[in-house]
Amino acid sequence: ATPRDCPADVETLGRSSWTLLHSIAATYPKTPTPSEQSDIKSFMRLFAKLYPCWTCAADFQQYIKKEDVRAGSRDEFGNWLCDAHNEVNKKLGKPTFDCSKWEERWRTGWKDGSCD
Ligand code: FAD
Repeated sequence: ATPRDCPADVETLGRSSWTLLHSIAATYPKTPTPSEQSDIKSFMRLFAKLYPCWTCAADFQQYIKKEDVRAGSRDEFGNWLCDAHNEVNKKLGKPTFDCSKWEERWRTGWKDGSCD
């Protein structure tokens, strides 16, 4: 049988969530104020707490405890998030992503005009 499209399964939820998170990184200021830095850190902590896949959430909270959210600049946050995503990729046996390319994937678009 073909899997149902709704409610969202762990994969669909994951893809949509990474899209949201990397897009937030793409629009995060290059030079954030202390309050913007504190907002993104709180957001990530709460996101990890409320993420509606409980085993994913538990591991992600552990990761944030071990690897403090880095949010001193867009580049710093984008790379922190890319590392966090790679940690999940490794756990799931997926290829890791070259983090020097996160901005091309999520902000400026690939130079050849493709999307993935
Ligand atoms: P995704 O991993 O969803 O990635 C989407 C796109 O992002 C890729 O096509 C690629 O273009 C790009 N990308 C890939 N890696 C990176 C990177 N490092 N940096 C920037 N861009 C990148 N699933 C589980 O089964 N178990 C879990 O414990 C689990 N934990 C999760 C924790 C969180 C916080 C989130 C958001 C998701 C989690 N997921 C988990 C879901 C999982 O990560 C995938 O989203 C899901 O398996 C679908 O994978 P995908 O191959 O479509 O690509």
